[in-house]
Amino acid sequence: ATGDYQQSDAAHHLHAFVDQKALNSEGARVMVRGEGVYLWDNDGNRYIDGMSGLWCTNVGYGRQELIDAASRQMKELSYYNMFFHTTHPAVIELSERLFSLLGDRFSHVVYTNSGSEANEVLIRTVRRYWDIMGKPGKKVLIGRINGYHGSTVGSASLGGMAFMHEMGDLPIPNITHVDEPYWYANGGDLTPEAFGKRAALSLERKILELGADRVGAFVAEPFQGAGGMIFPPDGYWQEIQRICRQYDVLLCADEVIGGFGRTGEWFAHRHFGFEPDLICIAKGLTSGYVPMGGLLMSRQVGEALVERGGVYAHGLTYSGHPLAAAVALANLDVLEKDHLVERTKNDTGPYLQRALREAFADHPLIGEIQGVGAVAAIQFAKNKATRERFSDEAELTWHSRTVGFELGAIVRSTNGRLIVAPPLVIDHAQIDELVGKMRQAVDATAKKVLG
Ligand code: PLP
Repeated sequence: ATGDYQQSDAAHHLHAFVDQKALNSEGARVMVRGEGVYLWDNDGNRYIDGMSGLWCTNVGYGRQELIDAASRQMKELSYYNMFFHTTHPAVIELSERLFSLLGDRFSHVVYTNSGSEANEVLIRTVRRYWDIMGKPGKKVLIGRINGYHGSTVGSASLGGMAFMHEMGDLPIPNITHVDEPYWYANGGDLTPEAFGKRAALSLERKILELGADRVGAFVAEPFQGAGGMIFPPDGYWQEIQRICRQYDVLLCADEVIGGFGRTGEWFAHRHFGFEPDLICIAKGLTSGYVPMGGLLMSRQVGEALVERGGVYAHGLTYSGHPLAAAVALANLDVLEKDHLVERTKNDTGPYLQRALREAFADHPLIGEIQGVGAVAAIQFAKNKATRERFSDEAELTWHSRTVGFELGAIVRSTNGRLIVAPPLVIDHAQIDELVGKMRQAVDATAKKVLG
């Protein structure tokens, strides 16, 4: 029974980013089944998944093609590694597919099991690259305040969340952070574009302060996910790119959320119009069916490591795991066969964005809706004209999220914003259902606040 599961769960688990004591008194929801955009819990309640699991089930739950590919691969070659001068067909084919999506500027990949590991590999690879280029001083990596790149030592250091740094004495040396392009909160009287430029210039200031001969890379999410789903103003990324090129700093895009169709492009950097040198992927690569991530390298970096780097002193037992590679290939097949990226760009994405704006534009609690494709954030505001925020906005968005769950719609509350990112297979009727429930949930919060 659900109560037994909850008791046992409470006895053994420390859940991610929660006060475990508080969760224990409430009991975790026990999820047992998924199909398409829906999930069911152990008591038979159905939820529409407005979060694609954790921004990962891009093709939805239970796709037979992925299940069959997994089963075939497990029978054929359940495991082998890439250590003993060995490789295997699934991983070879996967890399061919990824680089055909990325184009000729990119050439090399190191596979990992997660997005956190992709960022760990990035840190070491950046430093190695500058070593072999004869600039060993370029050790510093610059991330952004409230950026999120994972929970391991290096990736959480790259991330800019102070409460995470408190756990485990982070950041590690030679990692620092610059401004996030969060206009609604920090833009003051500036236009979004002027503010975006100012936020980008905080990178240039930091590089000048440290000295360009010490800075190896800038790492950021094309749009900031866990830190509140913040979409930078127009021109931000172009200014960032200008700065990185000017000071010979590698531009690294963490596409762990943005990759594989989320914005209506295969990669989010295309939506924002910039050219990274390194790209972290995970999540949508396999639609979360099995763990897999990777660090993708531009030809400039990849070929330098091959030609001049000698031994690449890094390896994971499960790098390029046959099962993960086979599932990733089947996942790419589904994304292509069902035209899910194009559909997100031209059909369901615009439909979702419009539905959210119609539902919330005049809502008394809501200040702004940001989003593109199948991802959006709803900014709560006390006063729309001045962009004054509620002092307790985190509790308010948490309340809406909790009512949403009770109504059977999963959305997330993060950094005082309500965020939504449904599977790319969602259709119009399901978008209506999701947005309708979100509206009901936010209405319930409004009733609590405004009476
Ligand atoms: N990078 C970004 C942008 C993420 O959103 C996440 C996870 O949410 C990660 C990295 C870490 O990925 P993982 O949880 O697979 O380690």
